[in-house]
Amino acid sequence: MPGGVNSPARAFGAVGGTPLFIDHAEGPYLYDIDGRRFLDFIGSWGPMILGHAHPEVIEAITLAAQRGTSYGAPTEAESGLAEQIIEAVDSVEKVRLVNSGTEATMSAIRVARGATGRDKIIKFSGNYHGHVDSLLVAAGSAAATLGVPDSPGVTVGAGKDTIVLSYNSCEEVVAAFAEYPGQIAAVILEPVVGNMGCVPATPEFLACLRRETEKDDTILIFDEVMTGFRLAFGGAQERFGVRPDMTTLGKIVGGGMPLGAYGGRADIMDQVLPVGKVFQAGTLSGNPVAVAAGSTTLRLLRDDPPYEQLESRGQRLAAGLDRAATDAGIPHQVQQVGSMMTLFFNPDSVHNWQDADRCDRDAFGRYFWGLINEGVYMPCSQFEALFFSCTHTEAMIDESIEAAAKVLKSI
Ligand SMILES: *Cc1c(COP(=O)(O)O)cnc(C)c1O
Repeated sequence: MPGGVNSPARAFGAVGGTPLFIDHAEGPYLYDIDGRRFLDFIGSWGPMILGHAHPEVIEAITLAAQRGTSYGAPTEAESGLAEQIIEAVDSVEKVRLVNSGTEATMSAIRVARGATGRDKIIKFSGNYHGHVDSLLVAAGSAAATLGVPDSPGVTVGAGKDTIVLSYNSCEEVVAAFAEYPGQIAAVILEPVVGNMGCVPATPEFLACLRRETEKDDTILIFDEVMTGFRLAFGGAQERFGVRPDMTTLGKIVGGGMPLGAYGGRADIMDQVLPVGKVFQAGTLSGNPVAVAAGSTTLRLLRDDPPYEQLESRGQRLAAGLDRAATDAGIPHQVQQVGSMMTLFFNPDSVHNWQDADRCDRDAFGRYFWGLINEGVYMPCSQFEALFFSCTHTEAMIDESIEAAAKVLKSI
């Protein structure tokens, strides 16, 4: 495998050294093949909000697998999951299940273009929407320019209809609509960014996006692959009270199995085949084993909502990390929303990619490896938010703060 990994974020490229190879996981802990135990603050990059190997999720997966792992035909279970999503996420009237977050955003963009008959889309630098060609552009640029591909193999043509703007800048959005009236199919964003570290949208920015898109009949897409079922049961849109036209989901919705979803207004979703003409399909879409994991996860989250507990533990961790970095005399910012957060090695607060890009990456690398030695597994990049689960107790949060305090004094 290139680099020994199946997804580059795992390769420790940003911090150096060799990635841990994992043997198994349980609750808040990962165990590597050398028999060491780590308190896990990645949670498989988002999905594991209930902790690893939750007994009810594992039982549901087992029972589903015993009934056959794929049929390529409709099941009651996938209709059930669709209903759970629609019930949870207020703006979603119809939904389609896919196999990953990337598939969800790729499909949502296609449907938005099909529904509006327009080509252009707006995305924001530092926002990651999976490895979709048209969205893999200028993730590091803050200029209001037409997208330049971030990766060899993405053609100039694939990026030419992508307008990349600076996150949290209403002026740039207003200017883009003035420059391309009636031409913008969709605006897509992470309502709280996890993929340049934790950077929340301001309420003013979200209100601006809702207003400007409505004025021009442009489809507003919330990419809630990370935030969905994490910041509230109904996602960031519930937390901030903003109603997008379309929503993409992944990570938690699959309960640790490969599953994503996209949905939204019924009139938009009815553009999709077989009702409408926009083509989107999948041999394993609605896979019964993945649906069992997702459906059980959503049921547990609905029946016993952990969100207040996650928020208070998040605030406790954020305050502890802030104190530890202050005591160590390190210029920093802690940005936190619920169970997502980042300790930025940056003297100024981070509102967009330009701000994030000024972080001291070397200090972060030393912090990361210091914590590994203390048995704490943080995201291996300054530009990835940490996550924790319902199984992370207050005592574990406090242990992690102590470990961070020790490491920060020595870097
Ligand atoms: C992880 C992520 C994706 C991509 O999902 P995959 O399942 O990795 O394809 C898309 N959007 C956001 C906001 C994400 O965090």
